[in-house]
Amino acid sequence: MSESIKVTVPDIGDFDKVPVIEVLVGVGDTVEKEQSLVTLESDKATMEVPSPVAGVIESLEVKLNDEVGEGDLLAVVKATADETEGEAPPEERAQAPAVEEATDSGQEAAPAPAPADDSGEHDFDVVVLGSGPGGYTAAFRAADLGLKTALVERYPSLGGVCLNVGCIPSKALLHTAQIIDEAAAMAEHGVQFGDPKIDLERLRGFKDSVVDRLTGGLGGMAKQRKIEVIQGVGSLTGPHAMNIESSGEGEGGQRSISFSKLIVAVGSQSVELPGIPWEDPRVMDSTGALDLEDIPQRLLVIGGGIIGLEMACVYSALGSDVTVVELLPQLMTGADPDLVRPLQKRISGRYKAIYTGTKVTSVKVADDGLVAYFEGDKAPESETYDRVLVAVGRSPNGNKFGADKAGIEVTERGFIEVDGQMRTNVPHIFAIGDVVGQPMLAHKATHEGKIAAEVCAGEKSAFDARVIPSVAYTDPEVAWVGVTETEAKEAGADYGVGKFPWAASGRALGIGRPEGFTKLIFDKATNRIIGAGIVGPHAGDLIAECALAIEMGAEAADIGLTIHPHPTLSESVALSAEVFEGTVTDLYIPKR
Ligand SMILES: Cc1cc2nc3c(=O)[nH]c(=O)nc-3n(C[C@H](O)[C@H](O)[C@H](O)COP(=O)(O)OP(=O)(O)OC[C@H]3O[C@@H](n4cnc5c(N)ncnc54)[C@H](O)[C@@H]3O)c2cc1C
Repeated sequence: MSESIKVTVPDIGDFDKVPVIEVLVGVGDTVEKEQSLVTLESDKATMEVPSPVAGVIESLEVKLNDEVGEGDLLAVVKATADETEGEAPPEERAQAPAVEEATDSGQEAAPAPAPADDSGEHDFDVVVLGSGPGGYTAAFRAADLGLKTALVERYPSLGGVCLNVGCIPSKALLHTAQIIDEAAAMAEHGVQFGDPKIDLERLRGFKDSVVDRLTGGLGGMAKQRKIEVIQGVGSLTGPHAMNIESSGEGEGGQRSISFSKLIVAVGSQSVELPGIPWEDPRVMDSTGALDLEDIPQRLLVIGGGIIGLEMACVYSALGSDVTVVELLPQLMTGADPDLVRPLQKRISGRYKAIYTGTKVTSVKVADDGLVAYFEGDKAPESETYDRVLVAVGRSPNGNKFGADKAGIEVTERGFIEVDGQMRTNVPHIFAIGDVVGQPMLAHKATHEGKIAAEVCAGEKSAFDARVIPSVAYTDPEVAWVGVTETEAKEAGADYGVGKFPWAASGRALGIGRPEGFTKLIFDKATNRIIGAGIVGPHAGDLIAECALAIEMGAEAADIGLTIHPHPTLSESVALSAEVFEGTVTDLYIPKR
């Protein structure tokens, strides 16, 4: 006999209500088992609610934009007869809908069986150490694949560097910086705004609220997936055992857990440059800079890489006189010099000074500030600042969790080497994210986290992405992916370049930013795109298309013949391909 099955809102973690953002079926529709019925939105992700049975939609109890809470009725599905006859209770899985049978069967959902492991005697199938973007992704994926999972994190808030003191808070502040700069630039367009009045407490509050929202969302999703989150510092005591020391107020103590498999996602930390008075509160690393204690009149940023330049951008817009000092001859080493030029030109006119090829030998505490001593042709011998931000790179945390107790090999610098499946030299232990090497980027960590979790669950996943994009969210943004022109040149590759200047882009002119350009690099033998670089507003968003093109093995004609919407900055990608092909009409290129 076919039964009517009520589909209700599953556990939505810490949220009372979440909106329905998609209704994917209508009354009378035939649905398969596991077919998504509606999509709900939580903070960090969307959640699709599937039908627990194959059948026909008998009634739909929600519509688009309705707010729903746990247990609310979403739909009733009339199960096809063979679906309900003799069927075992539905498995309870991550994000599976709470199922109530309309006929009061009283059956309880059964937990998904854990896949077989080496011994079956451990507390967890998988323990993930570290809850940054690599760690939480790995834990979520492992739980979604039915593994009994624990996530160990020393801080009360999940999300690691990226969510708490990295990507997310920095971008919240960079947005503010961008608006301040754009408002000022409007004067050129005939619209004058007054000087900005900055309420630091509210700005800090906004940034913190963004972080809280995302990290809270992670906590909720961990709970939904029945992941045990254990707060404390984890140290290995053996190949299958970990001790966790918690210092949380009222919850301090030790706990020992065992695992079949371990995913190490301990990340990295700021490098502490020697010769700097770190005990002085006016010396900051990126975390301190994101705290926004005050807006120093004179700020020295040591390190002209992505993090240093992003923070320089924020403080300059807020009113600091910024000096940037970089040891190497070029800002943002790794990017092609031509890509960095428009950024350097813009900030040279705004910052107090930019010293490349210059070393800070020491910083000393003086009555009127922090005195920095320089070694370099263009820099003065010394200069006094109100605050100093040190952003000279990050070092991996591989040597800080007792790796030796499990026999994990760690390099002298603290990196852990892994194979294509993210496996360390110890077969049941995996490592992902910043701790396994460059580039230290959140999107690399999340990608690796999924692979490690899938391999733990017995899947044949491996890292086979061709490229990992890099983005500096400075103003202008600088983004690149794949082979850079410098690398192609050094390798003696037979390559060609298609470059489209934004001065010829109607959209770029309309937003008053003609200084950017888009550059695509092609393998001349195949005409396939092998690299790209973009500088200008939204370069970080635009580079994604180039990454996809490289992954898909697109040829110049594929990109050029893809109709891009007009007028957008994205057109510059297609137009660059046309420049390479010699078919561009938006520029005049004399025939040779
Ligand atoms: C200011 C700044 C801005 C950034 N901006 C970007 C950006 O825009 N885009 C981008 O892609 N990347 C950015 N990054 C880099 C990005 O944050 C990292 O690449 C990313 O966070 C790495 O993720 P992960 O999972 O490897 O480790 P992490 O995020 O470093 O997380 C590791 C976690 O492990 C925990 N942990 C370590 N050891 C233990 C232990 N023994 N016991 C318990 N817990 C432990 C730590 O507390 C931490 O929460 C930025 C970084 C900074 C500092």
